[in-house]
Amino acid sequence: MNFNTALLHESFSGDSATGATLTPICQVSAFAHESAEKLEAVFNSKAFGYAYTRISNPTVDAFEKRIAALEKGIGAVACSSGMAAVTMSLLNILQSGDEIIAGSSLFSGTIDLFDDLKAFGITTRFTDEVTAESVAELVTDKTKAVFTELIGNPKLNVVDIKAVAEAAHSRGIPLIIDSTTATPYLINPFDYGADIVVHSSSKYINGGGNAISGVIIDSGNFKWDTERYSGLKEYAKFGKLAYLAKLRGGIWRNTGCCLAPMNAFLNSIGLETLGLRMERLCDNALHLARFLKNVPDMEVNYPALEDNPYYELVKSQFGGKGGAILTLRAGSKEKAFKLINGLKYASVATNIGDVRTLVIHPASTIYTHSTEQQKVSAGVFDDSIRISVGIEDIDDLIGDFKQAIEKI
Ligand SMILES: *Cc1c(COP(=O)(O)O)cnc(C)c1O
Repeated sequence: MNFNTALLHESFSGDSATGATLTPICQVSAFAHESAEKLEAVFNSKAFGYAYTRISNPTVDAFEKRIAALEKGIGAVACSSGMAAVTMSLLNILQSGDEIIAGSSLFSGTIDLFDDLKAFGITTRFTDEVTAESVAELVTDKTKAVFTELIGNPKLNVVDIKAVAEAAHSRGIPLIIDSTTATPYLINPFDYGADIVVHSSSKYINGGGNAISGVIIDSGNFKWDTERYSGLKEYAKFGKLAYLAKLRGGIWRNTGCCLAPMNAFLNSIGLETLGLRMERLCDNALHLARFLKNVPDMEVNYPALEDNPYYELVKSQFGGKGGAILTLRAGSKEKAFKLINGLKYASVATNIGDVRTLVIHPASTIYTHSTEQQKVSAGVFDDSIRISVGIEDIDDLIGDFKQAIEKI
């Protein structure tokens, strides 16, 4: 199956009980069974069935199966938010005393999370660029995970997954990729050696900006050394599924960060048009970037422009497509604000991956609590605007930016 066909038909054929073309929304907390014996069997995984929505739910299941198939993983666990997915993907394998290696240009919420984890004895060693060399330099006997985004948001730096995966694996460490900004349309990170993928499915997977959610997908390929990852010892009997079994049976269900059935339903609808949307979004972003490149005294950053330092990686990993985010340096904070305020079609909002174009001044919003050093590492300057391109007609978008720029 090719991508758009897979979005509709891979691991999904509607609801077999009723013929409904979409899995119905099972908006319930609990599932009743005909006898105490049956519920005992369900609880003890001796019979298939649902008991309680914090643990499993048919609408959520359907979404998990579809996203796992799309990422070519062996299974997926859906979470209440992207941040919950990032947190759970790590806490499932880490304990006090462990270290993470991560990129310093990560999504600001993830940087803040790594700060919170210090209170639990988990520390993070940051590097401006996650490369085989920086991993080799920062790794210690305590390193238990390498965590990075594929296309940094908003720095838009691109990671060479194969090289980083090899460096991590040579030290027995898994590579966890936040692939939110790349999406399965641009790449399946498992093909390049990544071990675990997380998405904030609030963004491109949902696509309509109508539900917060996250998802963790396991490749099943990482060989867990249960002496080093001792929490996985009792799950070793699940073989390749050990990581997911521990997640489901442990911290994910116990912290209660399950996905609401309604939101799983909205994601399943959004997922079906991911290919159409991403094709349009990448096209619009490239055209807008080319237009902005020719505006004097402004500087545009978009990975799929030929002179971008990551262009070769964009070609080799993403088939030349650069995603739907670009950043623009307007010259000063004042000019950035004027430009943002002058746009007619772009909403001033902190989100990405919506069908409509969104703009934000990161330094005064998402990065307002960050230090100067953190901002520079994240590629955030006082005059930066982040543009999350939408599916509007490109002539209208370019026209809108043109008139807003003329005003300043
Ligand atoms: C938005 C985002 C997150 C957090 O996701 P939420 O769904 O907002 O919790 C994590 N990583 C990246 C790259 C994001 O863009």
